[in-house]
Amino acid sequence: MDNCIFCKIARREIPAKIVGESELALAFWDVSPRQPLHILVIPKVHYANVAELTLNDESSLVAVMKLASELAVQHADESFRISFNTGEAAGQTVFHAHGHLTSRTPRGELV
Ligand code: AMP
Ligand code: ZN
Repeated sequence: MDNCIFCKIARREIPAKIVGESELALAFWDVSPRQPLHILVIPKVHYANVAELTLNDESSLVAVMKLASELAVQHADESFRISFNTGEAAGQTVFHAHGHLTSRTPRGELV
């Protein structure tokens, strides 16, 4: 999508602090973190939300969850959350599917 900010990050057209990547997914630090650990994990292909992603592209969905899980193991202890706000009323502000990986108990150096 031409005008989508997360597509632009995936295409490296605008900068982001990228923390992980696979063939189908990309992870970067949230620009305004709400917990000590706050990473966003997106499919590289554009879907408006997690339902569209799940119903249309299981490979990308698995890639998102896998990358989020790898980063959780790496950067959080055993306590973390992966959440997908879906729809304006639920707090979604960027309409490219993204999981918030958050933790109150990060471990090690966060970069
Ligand atoms: P949501 O409200 O669930 O749609 O989440 C959107 C998230 O994207 C928010 O937590 C924002 O802080 C974050 N965000 C918006 N623009 C950027 C950006 N350019 N780089 C990193 N995070 C961003
Ligand atoms: Zn997009």
